[in-house]
Amino acid sequence: MLPTCIAFDFDSTLSRILGGLQGIFAIFIKRDVPKELVKECYEESKKDGGFNIQGLLEKIKLKTQKSFDDNVIFFEFDEWVKSSIALYPESISVISDLKKQKIPVAIVTRGDQSYQKRKIELTRVLYDELYIVSGESGKCKALRELMQKYGNPVLFIDDDPRDLDLIREHGISENEVTTILILRDDNHHQDAHSVHSHLKIKTLDEIPL
Ligand SMILES: [Mg+2]
Repeated sequence: MLPTCIAFDFDSTLSRILGGLQGIFAIFIKRDVPKELVKECYEESKKDGGFNIQGLLEKIKLKTQKSFDDNVIFFEFDEWVKSSIALYPESISVISDLKKQKIPVAIVTRGDQSYQKRKIELTRVLYDELYIVSGESGKCKALRELMQKYGNPVLFIDDDPRDLDLIREHGISENEVTTILILRDDNHHQDAHSVHSHLKIKTLDEIPL
């Protein structure tokens, strides 16, 4: 049965950060903040509703008691985002094929509103629905809304096995949402194992349609 809608996670599913996170760290390391402290603050800042540069800067200020020119930091950060965010090579063609088949495309991503929005707009990826969610149940809630709007089954692709497991743990059945785990070569969730069963693909070209 053809899916009524295809929902994609964004980070590491449709897009990647070229060169990794070193560029974020470099903004502070060159201002004499120790690398370990930047990394520690980065990990902490991810916890409060998703990473953003304002949160990271505040944490670093608090721990170092240094002062920074906020606007220069924000400018340098945005320059880094612009030069680092990229879609995976096949993302554009897969989405344009879905458009041709008139299958609605949704992006369901967890994180900070403004940072996620900025990355998505920079990639110019096409979509019909966008959900930037927070918390463990955020993606499930978005998928329920998609089912309500388009019917079953919605197909959802994510690189994080935990997020796919959560869909089943929230009582959404396989008839409602088909779950696909994308195992990319640069996947940082490689060592995480899923509890529930999900289809597995290595690139978006392998989506079974
Ligand atoms: Mg992801």
